[in-house]
Amino acid sequence: MAKSVTLQNISKAFLNDKGERSYAVKGVDLNIGEGEFVTLLGPSGCGKTTTLRMIAGFEDITEGHIYFGNEAVDQIPPNRRDCTMVFQSYALFPHLNVFDNISYGLKIKKMSKPDIISKVESVLDIMNLRDYRDRMPNQLSGGQQQRVALARALVMEPGVLLFDEPLSNLDAKLRLVMRDEIRRIQQQIGITAVYVTHDQSEAMSMSDKVIVMNKGRIEQMGTPMEIYQRPKTQFVADFIGTANFMEGTVKGTEEGRLLVDTAAGLLRVHRDGFKTGDRVTVVIRPEAVSLGNGSERKGIVQKSVFMGQTQEYEVQFGGQLFQITEHNPIQEKVHAVGASVSVQFAEDALHVI
Ligand code: ATP
Repeated sequence: MAKSVTLQNISKAFLNDKGERSYAVKGVDLNIGEGEFVTLLGPSGCGKTTTLRMIAGFEDITEGHIYFGNEAVDQIPPNRRDCTMVFQSYALFPHLNVFDNISYGLKIKKMSKPDIISKVESVLDIMNLRDYRDRMPNQLSGGQQQRVALARALVMEPGVLLFDEPLSNLDAKLRLVMRDEIRRIQQQIGITAVYVTHDQSEAMSMSDKVIVMNKGRIEQMGTPMEIYQRPKTQFVADFIGTANFMEGTVKGTEEGRLLVDTAAGLLRVHRDGFKTGDRVTVVIRPEAVSLGNGSERKGIVQKSVFMGQTQEYEVQFGGQLFQITEHNPIQEKVHAVGASVSVQFAEDALHVI
């Protein structure tokens, strides 16, 4: 049965080269609901793998507590915690065929043979692996090996399923397919999943909730849309997608919006909690800026690149370079390098940090 996972003020310190304590994870509080898919996302070294390994029990906790449901699991060894991990390296047994790889854990648990067969057959079906049941791992593609690794984890019916960058070794196209497949199966079974990645599009497309980590701490958590549209810090805005930043000063409020004075003039922006006189940074996503031929807010196109579905621009305006994305570019309307253009912002998409 799916279990909730609670991390209570979790920290992990390692001894560095000088023999001093150095924190890989510091004061992390986190609640993951039953059946929820949560992704730990962040740059290399931010502590996401260490956090996952502490949940699995592979790493001791320096401070804090971890609960599965109401049960504290801090002192429970990994093999007796109700969770399994899917690794980047697949970690299949090379001398066992697909069926035996998947059934291995159930045999260790001393499950009866008929039960093992019925459980493995059902997972082979879920994972579309029926045709491969007798193959050895070296007779499988990378994607198929990863499906076997996932099947081997699922067959244990863990309360919590952990993923450590499971798609990193697959090519770009297969990653997209496997992403959908993992999400489909997770929802079908209703299992609690904690997934580690540094790939933001993976995190955005799969998760109920994204936890952005930076330097061992949680920088922000929220739904993919909240994280993208309402980043709380410059780090989050920058790490998730591309963002333009404009410095400004709050001049007042109007109909629930802030009026912010910037180099681009007075902007009406979302976000409570700021007051007149505050220095703020306005976050503007590239797709929230559009270009026209008007006479206001004039800028000069520095770069104009056709990307198929979009035209990507860099425009010098208001003393800085703006990244701008236009969708469905039409040849006659594309602005060339050197063109003088007017810059417009979609007010609803502006946000202040
Ligand atoms: P990556 O995406 O590169 O795997 P990460 O976000 O998963 O990065 P962690 O592997 O959790 O980061 O590492 C966090 C920090 O802890 C890093 O600075 C790392 O060097 C340090 N660290 C991890 N394991 C150990 C260890 N066994 N001994 C000492 N330091 C460690």
